[in-house]
Amino acid sequence: MAKKVKGKGSADISAVSSTEEKENEVIAEFEKHIYDLQQMLEISRSFCTTIELNPLVESILYIAMAQMRVTGAGIFVIDELNNDDGYVLSDHYSGIAIDPTIEYKIPVESKLVEFFTQSNNVFTLKELREYVPGCKDFDMLETLNPSLIVPLILKNRLNGILVMGERIYIDGMETAYTNYERDEIQTIASLASVAVHNASLIEQASTDMMTHLKLKFFFFNILEDKLDNAFAQNEKLSILMFDIDFFKKFNDTYGHACGDYVLQHVAKIIKDSIRDEDMACRYGGEEFTVMLCNTDVEGAYLVAERIRKRIEETVLVYENNEMHLTISGGISVFSVDENPVRSAKVLVDQADKALYVSKENGRNRISVADGEEIK
Ligand code: GH3
Ligand code: MG
Ligand code: MG
Repeated sequence: MAKKVKGKGSADISAVSSTEEKENEVIAEFEKHIYDLQQMLEISRSFCTTIELNPLVESILYIAMAQMRVTGAGIFVIDELNNDDGYVLSDHYSGIAIDPTIEYKIPVESKLVEFFTQSNNVFTLKELREYVPGCKDFDMLETLNPSLIVPLILKNRLNGILVMGERIYIDGMETAYTNYERDEIQTIASLASVAVHNASLIEQASTDMMTHLKLKFFFFNILEDKLDNAFAQNEKLSILMFDIDFFKKFNDTYGHACGDYVLQHVAKIIKDSIRDEDMACRYGGEEFTVMLCNTDVEGAYLVAERIRKRIEETVLVYENNEMHLTISGGISVFSVDENPVRSAKVLVDQADKALYVSKENGRNRISVADGEEIK
């Protein structure tokens, strides 16, 4: 902007330069605000597009650590599938030391939960000790050596508690949080709170509550995306389909509750036999599917056989009755060159047909779609 110089005297010139400095300061401040707002938009976009809870928690921790310059962070969230009576420290904490003898859990009836719900503000542990006297959770929190504790509030509901670790030292000094930083992390926490709430609703709606595996519609949804991705990256993607052999006899012999017990065990074996990035689904009554990204037929066969063998070797005890069981499986593999199917349903149907071959050939075996039967 062109400036008018009113006079020739030095006093006037210094007045002008100080006005100019002020203007520059204001502009710099505006630019910083615009930059921070753009960053918040980016953070919001990233949270809103992460619909699975575990990757979301990782993303929240990563962003909180980077924005607040801390060396570690952890987050307490309610595990709706396994227990909903307290906020448990997620396994995805980073850069903080955990004492394995301590239970990192804050009960829903804790005074701290009540205080956070009402105050919706961020605090140091020292401040919290002052504001919530007699709260029993502080000694556990102290072991995490937190620099700041941030509630994730949405409409008077506490969706999580973010614990910021040690701050990165500047010139050998640990700096206190400025009010601007406190506001910033509070804004991030409010965005995170919406995302955690949505992700946990999606998790509940997409999970079979008996086996804790994903439901069919959710599996297909993700598989459509992964197939597109496999096509674009020229990667293989495998589907396993399993069906418990003669499952009906468990129901008929020991009752429906026994059948449910068997289903839960089989689901656990399947889940424990795959990687975190794979996805297992309860496809129907006693049928299960597994999606293995970036996995070719040899890899898929290895996993399917591991599951089949583990189930064959398992002895289940139900009301003092020892029970043995087996499972049959089918494999299909997406491949740009050999099997370029673009429909999730077609790929799963191929695995289903291979499963049918296993049943026809005597059960307790794995077959591969459209190929030679391996076993
Ligand atoms: P095959 O080896 O040919 O697969 O025989 P199978 O007995 O496993 O197959 P079938 O399809 O005849 O029986 C499946 C049974 O699974 C029938 C159904 O009542 C039972 N079932 C389906 N869902 C559930 C469930 O949630 N709990 C229990 N307990 N049983 C279920
Ligand atoms: Mg069946
Ligand atoms: Mg069956």
